[in-house]
Amino acid sequence: MRVVETPSDLQLEGEIGFVPTMGAFHDGHLSLFRAAREENELVVVSLFVNPAQFDEDEDLGRYPRNATRDFELAEEAGVDVLFVPDRDEMYPPGFQTWVEVEQLGSMLEGQHRPGHFRGVATVCLKLFNLVRPQRAYFGQKDAQQVAVVKQMVRDLAVPVEIRVLPTVRDASGLALSSRNDLLSPEERERALSLPRALEARDQNLLDGLEVDYFEEADFEPRVLAAAVRVGGTRLIDNVVLEGDPS
Ligand code: AMP
Repeated sequence: MRVVETPSDLQLEGEIGFVPTMGAFHDGHLSLFRAAREENELVVVSLFVNPAQFDEDEDLGRYPRNATRDFELAEEAGVDVLFVPDRDEMYPPGFQTWVEVEQLGSMLEGQHRPGHFRGVATVCLKLFNLVRPQRAYFGQKDAQQVAVVKQMVRDLAVPVEIRVLPTVRDASGLALSSRNDLLSPEERERALSLPRALEARDQNLLDGLEVDYFEEADFEPRVLAAAVRVGGTRLIDNVVLEGDPS
């Protein structure tokens, strides 16, 4: 596996499967790497904790980072190129061009995290332009992110196929997330009411958690999506109500 920091060193050839990530890899990421491995000649993974999609500096500072382990896991999963651009590469001085997916980007998550999807859409488009993949892989865990990225790709005729993989959960039902690393054992226990409430379609089961939203959303497929705060950590999850997440 090659680790590349500068876009001019990417020098990619062949059919490319691309997985954009923010690191602290878990089995959710690995399922995307494996799908990309099966379907493409070359697998490129980006690791960039995108400051533009965080609304609070505190949240950005707390975001889990584990570069050494990420490197090992990516290599084991058969990733060919790990692209780790620095902040100035992605947002050079004077940067001023943003992608705004107006409606899909302002509801649910967008309402509670203003500017979040502007940051997501912009960094994804820039990464697509640098990597030029045939296919890009995303997790259904972030259902609204999938909807926003698909809309951008359609609206701006970006030449990439968006592939979506199901949410990976641990044995207790909690959706894997890099942010789970921030939970204390007691908080982790309390966080289990999130998947339980979604599974039962019953917001009352979120008793004791601070709820940002618990709402059906008309994405493709339709989902019941929720965001909660457990202590200082914000978690999102969703269940598919109809159709196939892939
Ligand atoms: P992140 O590093 O959290 O930005 O996530 C990178 C990609 O992995 C995104 O497309 C996420 O939707 C996906 N992902 C994160 N957690 C999971 C999960 N538990 N199951 C499936 N995909 C996931």
